[in-house]
Amino acid sequence: MRIIDGIYQLLTPFPQFTIADAKALRHDLQEHPRVTKGLPYVLPYLLKDGDDTVLVDCGWNTDTAYQALEEGMKEHGSHPNDINKLVVTHVHPDHYGMAGRLKQLSSCEIVLHEKDAEVITARYFAPKGLMDEMGKFMETNGVPAMDTPTMARGSMGMLGNVAPVPADTEVKGGETFKVGDFDFEIIWTPGHSPGHICLYEPNRKILLTGDHVLPTITPNVSIHAQTHGSPLGDYMRSLELLEDLDVEIVLPAHEFEIHDLKKRLREIEDHHKVRLDEMVNCVDRGGSTAWEVAGRVKWATGSLADFEAHMQRAAVGETIAHMEYLFETGRVSKVMRAGKLYWLPV
Ligand SMILES: [Zn+2]
Ligand SMILES: [Zn+2]
Repeated sequence: MRIIDGIYQLLTPFPQFTIADAKALRHDLQEHPRVTKGLPYVLPYLLKDGDDTVLVDCGWNTDTAYQALEEGMKEHGSHPNDINKLVVTHVHPDHYGMAGRLKQLSSCEIVLHEKDAEVITARYFAPKGLMDEMGKFMETNGVPAMDTPTMARGSMGMLGNVAPVPADTEVKGGETFKVGDFDFEIIWTPGHSPGHICLYEPNRKILLTGDHVLPTITPNVSIHAQTHGSPLGDYMRSLELLEDLDVEIVLPAHEFEIHDLKKRLREIEDHHKVRLDEMVNCVDRGGSTAWEVAGRVKWATGSLADFEAHMQRAAVGETIAHMEYLFETGRVSKVMRAGKLYWLPV
């Protein structure tokens, strides 16, 4: 789909969806926004001007997703072989999965933020160590022992749909690159992922937000064995970074375009404020683990006990991220008891 001349929105389905179903959902969702279980598609963007053909995000490495990408590029007079540069907003498999395949086809330059580039090996080339770490991490956070191996594996089953490749260029944020007449600035927006980036074109007032800002859903902001510090604190600060930008069209990597960025930023901030209050109220006087808190929270997609393993992991991770933020802002304290981490109201 043409956004403006030179910027095109493509669509690649998630592994469990056909191209036709994903396209139909793309249309439906924009007409009737609603909470869906799981994401049906990724929206890569083709930036094309002069001799430059740049792709922002790609999709899972499935034949169907590749076919969708090839068809989408063809509609705008391009082919995956023409890609000079692949900019990945963050290293999650739905955005990065096909990178290795595209590298082989086009020898394109792979661009990633250094914080995401550094986890590629642990996550995709040698995930065994990460799984063990994840299991221990989940146990510390109160996940019942029986559930930890399944939860640690979580999305590991999806690894078959990722063709990993190292980054050629690692960025820090603040860099600019040209695509013909377009000037893109890289903005580092950690939170959803430590190395998440957005791309801003100030002359056309266009902002590509990856998973950082989406129109109806909020991205999972989570702590797991590989992340440290306070991702939710990072995320909230990354939202503020976008507040003063002059933007007319926001192009996210899921769902559909946003036209009022400031309004959406306020909605997301409010959502987290409500969620933080809710989580404080889910902490027992005597202390609760993240697993216990996650079991009491009202999730938009159902209750923790009914989630699949990787969703449980995301929910527990998100709970920990909120607890760390509450800790950082002085609203809870934490204590280790018999190898488990408990949160306490203050
Ligand atoms: Zn993501
Ligand atoms: Zn995503």
